[in-house]
Amino acid sequence: DDKPTELRAPPTPSRGQSRSRNSSINGRISADDFEFGRVLGEGSYSTVMLAKHRSTGQEYAIKVLDKGHLKRNNKLATALAEKNTLVRLGAGHPGIVHLHWTFQDEWSLFFVLDLARNGELQSRISRLGSLAIPCARYLTAQLIDALDYMHTKGIIHRDLKPENLLLDDDFRLKLTDFGTGKVLTAGAERSKTWVGTAQYISPELLEVSETSKSSDLWALGCIIFQMISGRFAFQGLSEYLTWQKIKQIDYTFPDGFDEQAKDLVEELLVRDPTQRLGAGPPGSANDMQALRAHPFFTPIRWDTLWTDPAPPLE
Ligand code: ATP
Repeated sequence: DDKPTELRAPPTPSRGQSRSRNSSINGRISADDFEFGRVLGEGSYSTVMLAKHRSTGQEYAIKVLDKGHLKRNNKLATALAEKNTLVRLGAGHPGIVHLHWTFQDEWSLFFVLDLARNGELQSRISRLGSLAIPCARYLTAQLIDALDYMHTKGIIHRDLKPENLLLDDDFRLKLTDFGTGKVLTAGAERSKTWVGTAQYISPELLEVSETSKSSDLWALGCIIFQMISGRFAFQGLSEYLTWQKIKQIDYTFPDGFDEQAKDLVEELLVRDPTQRLGAGPPGSANDMQALRAHPFFTPIRWDTLWTDPAPPLE
């Protein structure tokens, strides 16, 4: 049974029927509680729209997923997995997009999410060429903080890339797209499913189809490289050639690459997943605290990381 029975609200009346303005059926939230605005972006199975909650005036990003399209492509389970991961992450971290409500109507599933008005980090990097070091440092610190929280909750992202790093009103980072996230169960610290985007895939995923939290740290290394240099760490003329480069850890820093950032990237783009900086068990000399303690982050004030103003992008 692929019916998304877990979603909270019952179906709202179909579009042809009249919907009263405040028709949250049984007091539950529905599409009628929102005034929908412009399209913020499109995914393969979804459209993300700006929406204003009518009674509070609060703005959100609502991800609208087409049920028919999901069913036809066997993606209902993926959509529900994304929802479950977001529910598990809760509202506990400012660097992770929070899912406020879900509801559905006859055609669509709706995920009401934190709005990240300044869009994807990828488009900023593309537009600017690369990011200034203080900005790259600040966003990396925020990403590490969000990853630490997520990993503590037993979740690996598995598709970290600048397209999935959104920027809010204050240009602070919001991690999104948990459609490929994996909830690790007790005793299973590794997962065997293969997912990811070519340029950010870790060698262990290519060689033994195995991911762990440390695969997210590999992607982190690729992202830092890209923010500062403006290009992929690993990029071949085809996906296959990109993978060859990853397997051989074949990448080179451009001239002038910040020395401390270079050292950090080198400590992350390590073949053995257990040897990456940040990959050790909590309390060990190689856990996420060790990552925070890297000299690249000396100017970062970790205790005010989410309230300090973001440095300019360029
Ligand atoms: P795919 O499903 O193909 O992997 P995707 O994960 O990017 O694509 P969505 O999560 O539906 O798909 O997002 C589509 C686009 O909408 C994103 O690329 C982003 O630009 C925008 N978007 C997503 N979430 C938000 C948000 N919370 N705030 C602002 N914009 C968002």
